[in-house]
Amino acid sequence: MKSILDLVRENIKSLKPYSSARDEYKDVAINDMIFLDANENPFENGVNRYPDPQQITVKKALANIKNVNEKNILLGNGSDEVLDLLFRAFCEPNKDNIITLPPTYGMYSVLASLNAIEDRKVLLSTDFQPQIPQILAAVDDNSKILFVCSPNNPSGNSFSEEAIETLLKKFQGLVVIDEAYIDFSKQESWLKKLNEYPNLVITQTLSKAYGMAGIRLGICYASEEIIRILNNIKPPYNINELTQQKALERLQDRVGVAQEIEAILSERNQLAIALKDISFVEKIYESDANFILIKVDDATKRYNELIAKGIVIRNRTTQPLCENTLRLTVGTKEENEKLMKVLSLISKS
Ligand SMILES: *Cc1c(COP(=O)(O)O)cnc(C)c1O
Repeated sequence: MKSILDLVRENIKSLKPYSSARDEYKDVAINDMIFLDANENPFENGVNRYPDPQQITVKKALANIKNVNEKNILLGNGSDEVLDLLFRAFCEPNKDNIITLPPTYGMYSVLASLNAIEDRKVLLSTDFQPQIPQILAAVDDNSKILFVCSPNNPSGNSFSEEAIETLLKKFQGLVVIDEAYIDFSKQESWLKKLNEYPNLVITQTLSKAYGMAGIRLGICYASEEIIRILNNIKPPYNINELTQQKALERLQDRVGVAQEIEAILSERNQLAIALKDISFVEKIYESDANFILIKVDDATKRYNELIAKGIVIRNRTTQPLCENTLRLTVGTKEENEKLMKVLSLISKS
């Protein structure tokens, strides 16, 4: 592959990052220091001070759980901010391109448009796996990022490890593996290969398995060099104090998180079995995540029928390879039972 520096935009190479006074003195920090540098209100209320711009305690907890070095971690206001930082650091507007593999997560394409970057779409195969020759044929010298979502949204399956490894070896730019659903997956995270591939970037999030979509915390794992570049361009206080506190609490409750994941997977498997009895369900796709994609007779009709009964799911029928598909998130036991009752009712009317 190319060196990381060859991939970075010129304006980013020469950028001088914003520095707060507290950044400069953090190495000599003494507990009873008086902070009169940032024009904060001095009266304590828990959030009167600016948050730690490097989120050291949260990163330490993550580093420990994921068995990586904290220097390989960058945190964002959701994965969406992490993905946007990658575009802004590596993709030159009106010149560079990215490769995406539809049907997949919609944000890659939205961020490409927002950053004036061409999105070269290479469809997955009909069994939702990356088509290596077609991907490599779409690549040129300006292809900076390849987005690989595994387990994939909305299909729910994981990509073959062999295919991903081939892409890591053959693609000259950054390979971003979006592991938003990795904690539900039978496959291992690619974190174990972080030191092996300098072009590997992994994103994860607290929004799904960790049950914290409301606090907005996305995680980027990459080489120290890539993390340093992203750190230079991120807004200094991008993770607020309340988010850092909540994230830390949740990360420390490893048993609680594991129990919820187990419960969701067990519910998912029961849901997949129950769906077989619904007459208009034509196909139930294998899921490695906390949702199930199904093919039905008429997705829009079934979607509207569910809405009328107060159940909101996702109609994916307009996505490539997803004609007449619906995506169902696994809910609580009670919610899933209600869903199945309504589906059963609809199928008999
Ligand atoms: C839900 C989801 C995310 C999470 O995004 P956040 O901004 O962290 O909430 C990322 N990628 C995929 C594929 C998702 O489905």
